Amino acid sequence: MTEASPPEQKRSEATATSAQRSAAVAISRAEIRLGGRRILDDVSLTIGEGEFVAVLGPNGAGKSTLMRAILGLVPLVAGQISVLGSSPVQARPKIGYLPQRQAFDESTRVRGVDLVQLGVDGTRWGVPLALTGRARARRHEERARVHEVIELVGAGAYAGRPLGELSGGEQQRLLIAAALVRRPRLLILDEPLDSLDLPNQAAVAGLVRRISSAENVAVLLVAHDVNPLLGYLDRVVYLAGGGALVGSVTDVITTEQLTALYGAPVEVLRTTDGRMVVVGLPEAPHVHGGRHEH
Ligand code: ADP
Ligand code: MG
Repeated sequence: MTEASPPEQKRSEATATSAQRSAAVAISRAEIRLGGRRILDDVSLTIGEGEFVAVLGPNGAGKSTLMRAILGLVPLVAGQISVLGSSPVQARPKIGYLPQRQAFDESTRVRGVDLVQLGVDGTRWGVPLALTGRARARRHEERARVHEVIELVGAGAYAGRPLGELSGGEQQRLLIAAALVRRPRLLILDEPLDSLDLPNQAAVAGLVRRISSAENVAVLLVAHDVNPLLGYLDRVVYLAGGGALVGSVTDVITTEQLTALYGAPVEVLRTTDGRMVVVGLPEAPHVHGGRHEH
């Protein structure tokens, strides 16, 4: 018999495909193991184009690992990740990535503007021997884009100074500019608020919100505290115990949801000024099927 597959099945396949096409990130039943330990198990989530999403969870929950999997740098044991309608590796040129913990010590002489230019050039340092007319035009466009993103992050006043002389907040703005310069469709920022003081955390959170809207870029921002981001986010991904919850801040960060995710009783409190506090967190993150290293 050459019968076609049942209409329901066809329809659901078509829906899945078109949903993946319009998604910045679509993760289906992903399992990740590192060093023989299961880090993430059966994680499914979809991030829409242009969405600003925080990736939350305790230390060791697998936030950085999941970001690296979306970049195609960590393989899946099971499941699938589609980024901007293709495989993570194929999508990588369209992803801007700021890895966790990057700071420049006082001896760093490289200027902010050079760092942002490096976002265009990659390894193409130095002055080319001869530029064709076309290459010269492209250079001109690239310079204009470098200037544009420096203005976008508000770093115009200090982009010409050595990075080592700048504050953590100023360095972070320039690193974000460098990640933006190639016009990514997806921006992955791993703990960009880490090591910033509270006013700078709020400022960078607002800046990332504006960038996401102005450039229509989907943003995954890894953070350990949701509070500086409240009011800016479209949704959150919360990782714990190898699993993930996805939804609005008020749907996900609740006593019931997080207790189920952690597999241990935790309580979500809201202070009168609206800050969220999760109390009773298990000491070490519980990841099933593995030995603990600490
Ligand atoms: P998070 O970013 O949420 O703090 P990570 O993704 O960095 O967590 O790490 C998740 C878990 O995976 C941690 O227990 C960490 O020790 C472990 N891990 C990270 N990288 C490796 C690796 N290359 N080999 C083995 N284990 C790793
Ligand atoms: Mg991390």
